Amino acid sequence: MDADQSVLLLNTTFEPLTVISARRALRLIFSKKAHTIEEGNTHLCTVRARVRVPSVIQIFYYVKKPYLAPKFSKKSVFIRDNYRCQYCGKHITKPTIDHIIPKSKGGRTGWMNVVTACNLCNNKKGDRPLKEAGMRLIKEPHEPKYLVYSSVISPARMKRWERYFYPELQETEKFIITAAVSQELAVNAEALV
Ligand SMILES: [Zn+2]
Repeated sequence: MDADQSVLLLNTTFEPLTVISARRALRLIFSKKAHTIEEGNTHLCTVRARVRVPSVIQIFYYVKKPYLAPKFSKKSVFIRDNYRCQYCGKHITKPTIDHIIPKSKGGRTGWMNVVTACNLCNNKKGDRPLKEAGMRLIKEPHEPKYLVYSSVISPARMKRWERYFYPELQETEKFIITAAVSQELAVNAEALV
């Protein structure tokens, strides 16, 4: 899927269903199964014409889908944190996992106590709690509702979609969201369209 031509498909309730290709999105529109909510900046050439690719479309019939919360894993934590060290803020290609409250001090392995850290910060913090190490988090960890794999979606496109993913967080402006839809969710919804 071309990262700049991926299209966000919304349910009738405006909830994100999945991310689909431009061709698939246009097929849904031409067959009157969906309509455009937001235009995109790219075009696609079909046999007959050059058409504008939408950025967001909405399906006309309600798709009942089970909500699948993203599973906790190292990789999911990296995606949630957008591969950014939660202490120094650097983007990292070889991230490590840090327990905010160290395991040895009873810290749990879960969304709220685990963050992405670079090697340097992880070593610096060692087996100490934040205060003792004199370190701070760039943002509080949260349990994500969706995880979107940014390899499928360009950062610019993701920025435009943020409000569809986390409207409740947008209001509080507490979090900077850059991540995307869990793969399971994407696959399930694709099967329904
Ligand atoms: Zn760091």
